[in-house]
Amino acid sequence: MAVRIGIARETAPGERRVAITPETCRKLVALGAAITVERGLGRHAHFADDAYAAAGAVLADDAAAALAGADLVLCVQAPSPALLATLREGAAIIGHLQPEADPARAEAIRTGGLVAFPLERLPRTTRAQAMDILSSQAGMAGYKAVLIAAQLAPRFFPMLTTAAGTIRPSKVLVIGAGVAGLQAVATARRLGAQVECFDVRPETREQIESLGGRFLDLGVSAVGEGGYARALTDEERAEQQKRLGEHLRGIDTIVCTAAVPGRPAPKIITAGMVGGMAAGSVIVDLAAETGGNCELTRPGETIDAGGVTVAGPLDLASSGAVHASEMFARNVFNFASLLVSDGALVLDWDDELVAKTAWPPREG
Ligand code: NAD
Repeated sequence: MAVRIGIARETAPGERRVAITPETCRKLVALGAAITVERGLGRHAHFADDAYAAAGAVLADDAAAALAGADLVLCVQAPSPALLATLREGAAIIGHLQPEADPARAEAIRTGGLVAFPLERLPRTTRAQAMDILSSQAGMAGYKAVLIAAQLAPRFFPMLTTAAGTIRPSKVLVIGAGVAGLQAVATARRLGAQVECFDVRPETREQIESLGGRFLDLGVSAVGEGGYARALTDEERAEQQKRLGEHLRGIDTIVCTAAVPGRPAPKIITAGMVGGMAAGSVIVDLAAETGGNCELTRPGETIDAGGVTVAGPLDLASSGAVHASEMFARNVFNFASLLVSDGALVLDWDDELVAKTAWPPREG
């Protein structure tokens, strides 16, 4: 029997993205799937019900009807525990599920006998790149963070030569050169700013320079497992902060993106450093969701700290819902195609992407 795929509207506050677009709906139908989407699914990402219907989906009037009898559920964020409890035993679910972030959600997945595929658990191998939601969504977040910074700044980013004299370009510092940080470097460069960036992974120097940024060497190298950064020791942190504090006095705008997997965001900019920055400077802390890289960041708020604006925007990827959804949905489609064989749901536990992403974690 054809695999039945259900998609309900996202209910998390501020969530505008969708896990299926008409484009990926058509592709899933071509794989032999029967798709049901809840009416209004794509309203906030500007994908119309008619477009899903034209792509072969059946429209359902509510979430429970959309997911009734589904073999596979696609979502951006996890459905409520109550909705998860309506799924049939053995159903699979793909999304940015963060099962351990909410005990009730974890419990609903376990007791319901569901097979969850939280895509944030996907091993970051070359083959997995096309399914990597962390990368695709970080790209949008880095881009938006720079636009917010440009909007909040009381100055131009580019150098301008005008009849009223020459305006010097803004100096932008990006902290952390992962996917979001590199997109921030590229975006700030396109806006004409002078851009510097630092990271504790030395290989980022070349990546920053290839985007027209300058690598700021703070003398700290901290490569951890799997190519990620590790947390700094107290001595390394002190060294980084000493050099950084002196440097920040000449910076107009900071975009923070530093993260260490599975830990709160490293605190890199102290209140004292902010106090030493010139009035009119701006800090946009993209790490706000995991506590922020700046001590003064308040998630979801923009504050004035002695003339320095500190913004901690949330839901940045969601604010670019059209393209963020297109990328997210393609990531989900690419992973879902691993689970569909001859139009049926088949979980191939010999495939390391399937086995390592599954939650609860599999034995052995
Ligand atoms: P991330 O969001 O975990 O972290 C962002 C950046 O913060 C990282 O570059 C990290 O080194 C940096 N950082 C951490 N602590 C810092 C500190 N104290 N000071 C300054 N910078 C600090 O990173 P990410 O964007 O998810 O990607 C990180 C790694 O994963 C990179 O090596 C990237 O190339 C790799 N990656 C691989 C794939 C793949 O092959 N499929 C896909 C995406 C990313």
